[in-house]
Amino acid sequence: MKTAVFSTRRYDKSLLAQANSEAGHELVFLQDRLTRDTAALAAGCAAVCVFVNDNVDAEVLSLLAAQGTRLVATRSTGYNHVDAGAAARLGIEVVRVTDYSPHSVAEFAVGLLLAVNRKIARASVRTREGNFELDGLMGFDLHGKTVGVVGTGKIGTIFARIMRGFGCTVLGHDPYPNPVFAAIGGRYVAAEELMARSDVISLHCPLTEDTRHIVNAQTLAGAKRGAILVNTSRGGLVDTEAAIQALKTAQLGGLAIDVYEQEASLFFQDLSSTIITDDVIQRLVSFPNVIVTGHQAFFTEEAIGQIMQTTIASISAFEQGAALVHRIPAAEPTRQPQPGHEK
Ligand code: NAD
Repeated sequence: MKTAVFSTRRYDKSLLAQANSEAGHELVFLQDRLTRDTAALAAGCAAVCVFVNDNVDAEVLSLLAAQGTRLVATRSTGYNHVDAGAAARLGIEVVRVTDYSPHSVAEFAVGLLLAVNRKIARASVRTREGNFELDGLMGFDLHGKTVGVVGTGKIGTIFARIMRGFGCTVLGHDPYPNPVFAAIGGRYVAAEELMARSDVISLHCPLTEDTRHIVNAQTLAGAKRGAILVNTSRGGLVDTEAAIQALKTAQLGGLAIDVYEQEASLFFQDLSSTIITDDVIQRLVSFPNVIVTGHQAFFTEEAIGQIMQTTIASISAFEQGAALVHRIPAAEPTRQPQPGHEK
């Protein structure tokens, strides 16, 4: 099936082509992000394959539908960038990658936490310049501390298990409690209690209308003073301006983010020779206790391999009229039990 693959990077091209070797779909690789201006590039493609910063809103979907697109396959777990309701109205099926190594993201979240708490990135920059001083590099033991996990699905539960291994008390908040989280010693509490008691807060819930800015000025004011916030989920979960204010007053002791609300125009590109006009990200990276990475938590051999295989399998299933096991429901996701919890 002819498929336009938006936001293609070198690794997407080689790994998707490899996963497609038997299926033989006609893949049209495009470096551009999908927007209303680039939708025309998919003319004649029955399927469109997108990534997290492609814009798959109602307007773009109607442009695609008018050109004959009948399937949108996102190479991601999160699908907040796709207007699933509009797709359903237009008769476009939407599939995602429900399951790919959740370890990739959970392990990266732990890495970010260690990096910001123990100032590992700062230390590395210093030693490269011959500075072996320890001033300013002190962190705290994670052992014995309390870690709050917001969203205890596949990734959150693995993160929680790792933190239990560090000797942490683990609190969780999720409208759909996961028995595995409780089985590994996690305890569910209300969101306010999680914020108030946690030395570390890690976000692992999807971005929906209910969770947008779930971390804001008010919730940060109720957080334990000096807590570290880790976000590997979606940038829109955090009101970044509020986080900056909390960092300035030391209410927030550290921030480690792999995702950023305005990342679409920045991430997955080399902008090192240009003037970055986003003052918020520039302010963020200027803090010594902030680490920003460019949405790379998923980026392991295992995860990427599974993403590409599932994507090709979904395109094949659609072409053959088979059941779409990774179909995105058109209804509001947070009002439905989340499938795929670890059993
Ligand atoms: P999952 O569906 O297994 O778990 C999500 C959990 O969040 C569910 O248990 C759900 O009930 C819970 N949830 C929903 N609304 C909530 C709320 N208001 N408060 C607290 N919890 C809530 O998903 P997953 O595979 O663990 O992925 C979690 C998120 O991680 C994805 O939605 C995606 O945004 C993000 N992600 C990021 C990367 C990356 O590279 N940075 C990669 C993959 C996934």
